[in-house]
Amino acid sequence: MSNAQINPYEAMQASLRVASELYGLDDALFKVFMAPTRSMIVSLPVLMDNGQWEVFTGYRVQHNLTRGPAKGGIRYDMNVTLDEVKAMAAWMTWKTAVVDVPFGGGKGGIVCDPNRLSMGEKERLTRRYIAEIMDIIGPDRDVPAQDMGTDAQTMAWVLDTYNMHVRRTENAVVTGKPLSLGGSLGRNEATGRGVLITAREAMQRLGKPLAGATVAVQGFGNVGSQATRLLHEAGARIIAVSDSKGAIKNDRGLDIHALLKHVSETKTVTGFKGAEAMDPSALLTHPVDILVPAATENQITEDNAPKVRAKIIVEGANGPTAPAADPILQENGVLVVPDILANAGGVTVSYFEWVQNRQGFYWREREVNERLVDYMTHAFQATFATTDKYKTNPRIGAYILALDRVAQAMKYRGFYA
Ligand code: NAD
Repeated sequence: MSNAQINPYEAMQASLRVASELYGLDDALFKVFMAPTRSMIVSLPVLMDNGQWEVFTGYRVQHNLTRGPAKGGIRYDMNVTLDEVKAMAAWMTWKTAVVDVPFGGGKGGIVCDPNRLSMGEKERLTRRYIAEIMDIIGPDRDVPAQDMGTDAQTMAWVLDTYNMHVRRTENAVVTGKPLSLGGSLGRNEATGRGVLITAREAMQRLGKPLAGATVAVQGFGNVGSQATRLLHEAGARIIAVSDSKGAIKNDRGLDIHALLKHVSETKTVTGFKGAEAMDPSALLTHPVDILVPAATENQITEDNAPKVRAKIIVEGANGPTAPAADPILQENGVLVVPDILANAGGVTVSYFEWVQNRQGFYWREREVNERLVDYMTHAFQATFATTDKYKTNPRIGAYILALDRVAQAMKYRGFYA
């Protein structure tokens, strides 16, 4: 099956089914978890710079709200579908439970190509989207953040549009904001820092230091570039990286600071002088200690999984491994740090941002980073303790840890019928 044919929501449901059976989840709860609580589809008329109107399709999905307001990013991409957004909303339910922050799971997306929109078009699209989903978002309802194709500027437009409608300051309606609007220090690099922390823990589990380990990173956006920089600063040797335009490698180790400069100037890793071009699909099977998929879903499938030579996969992206690839990786002794743990650094610091907004009291960067290490290492230990207890793989272990936390909260609340 090609990766475009793998439905991400069905992939989420497949892992949920395996975890629920192993855990012995109550049938009623299983049925509730299989379907999102609320899915909203909106049509967004936008005046384009050429004077024509375009109508875009947007989604906001809330998967489960038992443990708190929905939390989850907004993706701008041509491949956004309702099922993709439903999958990502569900992963947010499990992710917030794995790191034990008081949120449920939500996600949003607009079918568009952010690279072809001018700043003005992007702003008008964002504002119209927020105006359409106004009734279901808010600091106590659903708190968006950035994802693929969106950034701190997009979050500033989200904040402004929401605040104009409610006619008061509600900074906690969105996270990943610029610092000058109540953003948190450390948020920009938080997902990459979470990748670093979990990669270090995973190496420790194999009895090896992170320093000197070889790394390949797929995707060089927010998550991939920050993870690359932090892993490099921790002494790992980054030998291959890619983005949607191509891949490069240097087995002696890439000069990361020069690469970051090249990307800030050219917007791509391709053409970097200190490396040779490589086939992007070969990056996933390149011999390295640590592979960090940090692009998009279904990159490691049953077709290429047998060829993966990494010792550890740290899933910076959401859903990069198709369900059929998991047993192959497990059989081959590849340690997978699953997305709902590995990339949870972003939502953890988003939680810190939301707390700081509500307190009106802001933390030093050192405090943010120390607390992040604390949350992520606890989540890592809890995930692997559950994995060992149920004699399963870490993805199912993480799902069981999350299911247990959400199920306990749901049992106390009961079903309102
Ligand atoms: P981004 O838009 O900043 O970057 C995406 C990168 O992936 C770009 O470099 C793009 O060129 C590259 N890319 C896209 N398709 C590719 C392909 N087929 N092969 C190689 N590279 C490809 O997005 P981001 O925020 O870094 O998000 C990346 C992933 O991490 C997504 O799955 C997202 O859901 C997940 N994630 C992001 C955050 C966050 O805080 N930003 C948090 C948790 C999870």
